[in-house]
Amino acid sequence: MPHTKCRCCDSLLHQTFVDLGVSPLANSFITTEQLNKMEPFYPLHAYVCDRCFLVQLGEFESPDQLFNHYLYFSSYSSSWLLHAEQFTEMAVERFQLNDDSQVIEIASNDGYLLQYFQQRNIRTLGIEPAKNVAKIAAAKGIPTRTDFFGESLAKQLVREGYQGDLIVANNVLAHVPQLHDFIAGLKALLQPDGVITIEFPHLLHLIKDKQFDTIYHEHFSYFSLHTVQSLLARHDLKVVDVEQLNTHGGSLRLFVRHHEHRKPIHINVAKVIQQEQASGLDDLTTYVQFAGRVKQMKVDILTFLVEAATMHKKIVGYGAPAKGNTLLNYCGIGPHFLPYTVDKNPYKQHLYLPGSRIPIKEPDEIRRTKPDYVVILAWNLKKEIMDECSFIRDWGGKFVVFVPEVEVI
Ligand SMILES: [Zn+2]
Repeated sequence: MPHTKCRCCDSLLHQTFVDLGVSPLANSFITTEQLNKMEPFYPLHAYVCDRCFLVQLGEFESPDQLFNHYLYFSSYSSSWLLHAEQFTEMAVERFQLNDDSQVIEIASNDGYLLQYFQQRNIRTLGIEPAKNVAKIAAAKGIPTRTDFFGESLAKQLVREGYQGDLIVANNVLAHVPQLHDFIAGLKALLQPDGVITIEFPHLLHLIKDKQFDTIYHEHFSYFSLHTVQSLLARHDLKVVDVEQLNTHGGSLRLFVRHHEHRKPIHINVAKVIQQEQASGLDDLTTYVQFAGRVKQMKVDILTFLVEAATMHKKIVGYGAPAKGNTLLNYCGIGPHFLPYTVDKNPYKQHLYLPGSRIPIKEPDEIRRTKPDYVVILAWNLKKEIMDECSFIRDWGGKFVVFVPEVEVI
């Protein structure tokens, strides 16, 4: 095994969290023309640092295309847009933002969030490395810088007169290869009185609910509040408050300020740290046991599929999320079990899932083919999908989720 160092504390990594074998990049969808070609697979092996407990992927040859071209546009999920709108309302009120304020979002995607700030005449700036996505945001009139965020870009922006009263770094930290450079950038770009919000899927839920499919190559790190807090402290930033959210199977929203800011630290911070300790996140054994639990899930998922196939049940998928690709490739599920999946995102339709090569069709296909089971691969949108597809009940169809365990609904 090559020696890899912890992204947070530089210790050598030797403790496996879970080894998911080899997998293609979760967002490298295959076109019809590419079907007769090979595709690259990369090791998907997560470690836990036995010193700081940061869960992270071991180093792998990281291809340039990882973030250059993204098929995920935030605006295609209605519950995600609602989350963005509610976030805007909360932030405007809580931080009293007005037309003098500057909001900067890192990884601003297609402008799904900043559009709501703009509607309130607040100055916005998006930073988005994926060129095709940034272009869509720019077309909507949202000023967008196509670049990777780090300390040097932050300093450049400050020279150009930008500084954030609010810096939004939601669901981006996991994607950051160089954590210290990224946090140093946040520190540099923050007004003395400004606030940073950071949202990330909480490692507590990943472990508790066995969300192993949220592990994929684009996600380098998996965080607890404890690890993020110590990471921020090394850059003279402090977590002043934290909220627990239902997004992505359980996330945290941190409010972060300069270390010397007068704002006292809310009791919520200590409460979440206590929860983490009560769940054993400060004990290496908790991490070491994870792999065995994931292996059992694979057995349960395959048992369900084999039994359903034996009874000649028709099973299809719903959603083509990155997490679905981790699950399908780890479990070795292809079109023999799931002849197709559907997705609302037109950019994904008529493509094939990487690795498993399951075709992606329009949602209407479910109505036409009347399957017995619809496996919800995007389990974080379970409620939304079940509402939209409730018509499968007309022919006795049922929904299935695989995470945290196989459940027929
Ligand atoms: Zn470490």
